[in-house]
Amino acid sequence: MRIGFLGLGTMGAPMASNLVRAGHAVTVWNRSRGKAEAIEGATIATTPRDAARGSELVITMLADEHALCQVLDGPDGVLAGIGQGALLVDMSTVGRKTALEVADRAHEREARFMDAPVSGSRRPAIDGTLIILCGGQDADVAFATPVLSALGVVRHVGPLGAGASMKLVINGLGAQLFTALGSALGLGEKLGLDREATLDLVMQTPFASPSFALRRGRLLAPDAPDTPDFPIRLLEKDQRLVLEEAARVGLPMPALAAVRGELQRAIELGHGNEDMASIIKLYTQPSKKSALP
Ligand code: NAP
Repeated sequence: MRIGFLGLGTMGAPMASNLVRAGHAVTVWNRSRGKAEAIEGATIATTPRDAARGSELVITMLADEHALCQVLDGPDGVLAGIGQGALLVDMSTVGRKTALEVADRAHEREARFMDAPVSGSRRPAIDGTLIILCGGQDADVAFATPVLSALGVVRHVGPLGAGASMKLVINGLGAQLFTALGSALGLGEKLGLDREATLDLVMQTPFASPSFALRRGRLLAPDAPDTPDFPIRLLEKDQRLVLEEAARVGLPMPALAAVRGELQRAIELGHGNEDMASIIKLYTQPSKKSALP
C-alpha cells in the first residue's frame, strides 16, 4: 500500500521502518529532516502535503496536539494534500477532543479518519508488538488492519474518539502506578530498606505491575546514562489530557491531579527528557521534598 508517515521520533521511526520492511511504499516526513534520511527504503517528502499526496493511508505519530495541527494545517499541511477517500490515521496521543476535531476536518476534505494511539513503548515499537487502540468505523479499521498489523496487535475499541479515550485511561493509570511505586520505594529507603530488595518483594505481591519489571534497571540506577523510552514530558502531557477529559465529563480526579503536579515538579527539576522511571528521583534524592502528602 502507498503510505505517508509523518513524525519520526522515538516511536515513529521504528514504526515507519517496520512498514517499509512489510513491503509497503512508504513516504516519510519529519520536521528534522535527518530522522527521515535515517529510514532506509523510504521516500522522503519535503512537506507534509507531499507525504500525504497520493497516499492511500496517511499515518501521523507526533508529540502532541500542537505538533499534529502544525503538520495538518496550512498550504503545505497534510490536509492540503490528502486525497479523496484516503484514510488518515493519527497514532499520536492527543486526546479524544482533538481526535474528533481532526476527524471533522478530514471529512471536510472527503478523507476518512481513525484515531489509533498505541500502548507500548520504544521496544514494542521496534519489535512490532504495540497494542493499537483504534477508534473508528468498522470498514476503516478493516482497511487499515493489514497494514497496522506490522506494528502490533490491532484492537478496535469503539467509534471515533474511543481509541484516544482508551489511551488516556491506560496512561492515567500508568502515571499513578509509577508515581506510587517511586514514592513507595523512596519511603522504603527512608525507613532503611534496600531498594532492590523492596522492589523484588513488591514484584511478588498482587500490587505488582509488569511495567515495574520492564523498568527494573532504571529504577535501581536512575542516574545511569540512558535513552529514554517514554519521557516524563510526554507522560505529563498525557495527564493534562486525562484531566481535561475528566473535567469535561464532570469526574473529579484529585489523585491524578496530584500525580500530574509531581510530573511537573520533575520537569522543573530538569528530568523532563528522562524516562518515566526517573520519577523515583523525586523521592530518593534527599534535598527534593515531595508535594504529595
Ligand atoms: P518524540 O520522540 O518526542 O517525537 C515527537 C515527534 O513529533 C518528532 O517527530 C518531532 O519532530 C515531532 N514534532 C514535535 N513538535 C513538532 C512540531 N511543532 N511540528 C512538527 N513536528 C513536531 O515522541 P515519541 O516518543 O515518538 O511519541 C510520539 C507520540 O506517541 C506522542 O504523542 C506520545 O505521547 C505517544 N507515545 C509515546 C510512547 C513512548 O513510549 N515514547 C508510547 C506510546 C505513545 P522532530 O524530530 O523534528 O523533533
